[in-house]
Amino acid sequence: MDDRAFRNAMGKFATGVTVITTSVQEEAYGMTANAFMSVSLNPRLVLVSIGEKAQMLNRVRTAGKFAVNILKAEQKELSMYFAGQIKEKREIDFAWLHDLPVIQDSLANIVCNVYREHQAGDHTLFLGEVVDLVVREGEPLTFFSGKYGTLPAD
Ligand code: FAD
Repeated sequence: MDDRAFRNAMGKFATGVTVITTSVQEEAYGMTANAFMSVSLNPRLVLVSIGEKAQMLNRVRTAGKFAVNILKAEQKELSMYFAGQIKEKREIDFAWLHDLPVIQDSLANIVCNVYREHQAGDHTLFLGEVVDLVVREGEPLTFFSGKYGTLPAD
C-alpha cells in the first residue's frame, strides 16, 4: 500500500469541518481540522489530531486550551482560509468565550481545557475536557474524498 492509497481510503470517511482556535499572549490563532471526534460523556471529552508541522501544535500546548468550531455550509471560505488555501491575510472578527477566540455564527463553539496529549506518529492527539459550549441552528459544511460539500436537501 502506498501513501496515496492510504489517504484515498481515509478520505472515504465523510466528515464535518472544524476550525480549532486558541490564544497565546492574547493573540488569536485558527487551523482547519476534520480529525475531530466526541470521546466520553463522563468526563465530557473530545479529541482533535494536530500534525507535527502545524504551528497550531505548539500553540495549543502553550495555551493548554482550545476551542472546536463546527462550520456551517456557508463557511467554506473560512475553512479554506484557516487551511492556508487562501493566501492573502485577512482580518478575522473572532468572538471570545472563556478567553478563547471562537468563530462567530458557526454551528457550535466547544471550549476545552487540554486533558491529555498523546503523540501518534506524525500527529499529536489532544483530548479536551469540555468546559462550555454554544450551539446554533444551520446546515454543516462537509468533507469527503478531498472535496467540500453540503448535505443534500430532503
Ligand atoms: P497557519 O499557517 O499558522 O494558519 C493557517 C492560516 O490561518 C494562515 O493563512 C494564517 O494566516 C491564518 N490565521 C491563523 N490565525 C489567524 C488570525 N488570528 N487572524 C487571521 N488569520 C489567521 N491538519 C491537522 O493537523 N489536523 C487535521 O485534522 C486537519 N484537517 C484538515 C481538514 C481539511 C478539510 C483541510 C482542508 C485541512 C486540514 N488540515 C488538518 C490541514 C491544516 O488545516 C493546514 O495544514 C494548516 O494550514 C496548518 O495550520 P497551521 O497551524 O500551520 O496554520
